[in-house]
Amino acid sequence: MEQQDVVIVGAGFAGMYMLHRLRGSGWRARIIEAGGGVGGTWYWNRYPGARCDVESMSYSYSFSEELQQEWTWPHRYATQPDILRYANHVADRFDLRKDITFDTRVISAIFDDRDGHWVVGTDTKGGIRARYVIMATGCLSVPKIPDLPGLQEFRGRLLHTANWPGEGVDFSGLSVGIVGTGSSAIQSIPIIAEQAHHLTVFQRTANFCIPAWNAPLAPEAEVERKRNYGALRQKSRNSYAGDYADEYYVSILGLTLEEREAQFEARWREGGFNFQYAFADLMESAEANELAAEFVRKKIRATVRDPRVAELLCPKGHPLGTKRLCVDTNYYETFNRDNVSLVDIKNDPIVAMTPGSLRTRSADHPIDVLVLATGFDAMTGALTRIDIRGRDGATLKEQWCQGAEAYLGVAIAGFPNMFVVTGPGSPSVLANMVLACEQHVEWITDLLDHARSKGIERIEANPQAQKEWARQVTQSAARTLYPKADSWYLGANVPGKPRVFMPYVEGFNVYTGICQKIAAKGYEGFHLTGAQ
Ligand code: NAP
Repeated sequence: MEQQDVVIVGAGFAGMYMLHRLRGSGWRARIIEAGGGVGGTWYWNRYPGARCDVESMSYSYSFSEELQQEWTWPHRYATQPDILRYANHVADRFDLRKDITFDTRVISAIFDDRDGHWVVGTDTKGGIRARYVIMATGCLSVPKIPDLPGLQEFRGRLLHTANWPGEGVDFSGLSVGIVGTGSSAIQSIPIIAEQAHHLTVFQRTANFCIPAWNAPLAPEAEVERKRNYGALRQKSRNSYAGDYADEYYVSILGLTLEEREAQFEARWREGGFNFQYAFADLMESAEANELAAEFVRKKIRATVRDPRVAELLCPKGHPLGTKRLCVDTNYYETFNRDNVSLVDIKNDPIVAMTPGSLRTRSADHPIDVLVLATGFDAMTGALTRIDIRGRDGATLKEQWCQGAEAYLGVAIAGFPNMFVVTGPGSPSVLANMVLACEQHVEWITDLLDHARSKGIERIEANPQAQKEWARQVTQSAARTLYPKADSWYLGANVPGKPRVFMPYVEGFNVYTGICQKIAAKGYEGFHLTGAQ
């Protein structure tokens, strides 16, 4: 059986850097990757319009000064093909491919309690033994297929945004239906609408969208940022969201009406996530949040010509930001096109799929192609679908059946020598994912180096420390408005999934500080033991 020091599952941004960093510390490591190439989420999510919604000079690796200086992002927010090109460049530049096994899915990971090793099983080759397993499986990597009545009857083409054909899809002359209005739909709808004969959007919950104001990156801006890259990265690491955008923390309720409108307008003009992160009370006060929400609704009403459609697109029933904010380009404008219609499936639910249509209670909508933009089994799905068995043979799926708990979002009691990059209980999806991955990768590598230097062979989260961390994660979220929406942050989008708020909301900076303190105290909260 192949033997490694470390098996890494997944060759996305987390897995690639994990491999590079471990190699640098003298560990023998191999990545097992289900896809045919590197890039993780950016390998699979090739739907039209896919691009990142954190600025690319920020949403990129910071660990190599040469890399960040030599790479040029053409736009403020890079397209999926550009991000995938970047991932491939990183793989080549750091010679990662020779230690990556592609087109191979990890199906099991079984801990052998006798000698403290893991045996990792795959669908194409024999097992691999390793002392450590690192799950770099991504937070949003298991697409959710909704249980639409009669879906198997549909004879047209069925697509999911998160599993898009590499060769693309030509929608010319076709009637297209799209279910979902989250970030993936919001990016793809304007592009599909330009091609399709007709596009019908089936909306269950309207979302808040802030404009991206995407544009080519001005060469002077790039030069300037590159000159200050070190300082900008430092600022990002010390920030709530892991980003270098200014965080103003203005209190909405402390402003006069005029000041408030000016502040909202300024953030709207700036575009992107700072509309949410710039305000101190936006995620804490329902009253403050409603003022911001109403500002966005006014923008929607001013953009969409048909007042009935505009009203349907106005989000109601959940505070702004409690479902992840969407960052759009021409989303609302698209509903002014003659070939686009909006169906409110909350009040007119889907009752059946037929061979050539999607039928709601009140009408039959003929479609040739159905696009599911229905999201993911987030943060835990990629882990629970692997048969992971820890000490005593307990499965992770069983352990998490009442809700996912992981110490610092990194390690799980009962599963020694296994680590998760950006797992449940870490800031991950509320922060710039690339910097969040880097922080975890560096912290895990330091922990492994520490263990090696001390002759430690088993690292396991202490159950009390894990409970206490889970309590803090839940308590922090409960102080905010976040739990007020049926969001994927809570697992509410997957029928039967326990409702536990999974991301850590206190901020990337606060979290990083806690991790540093824990390391400085000899990895408090972990059992570290030598050879048994
Ligand atoms: P999502 O935000 O979970 O949205 C899924 C959509 O599908 C929602 O509108 C949901 O409605 C709807 N839906 C799900 N099941 C349904 C059903 N059975 N019937 C009718 N409607 C259904 O998924 P996503 O758009 O793929 O985005 C997920 C996350 O990925 C984002 O929040 C973001 O973190 C990330 N992402 C990032 C980018 C980027 O960086 N640019 C782009 C895309 C995605 P309900 O709200 O009513 O459940």
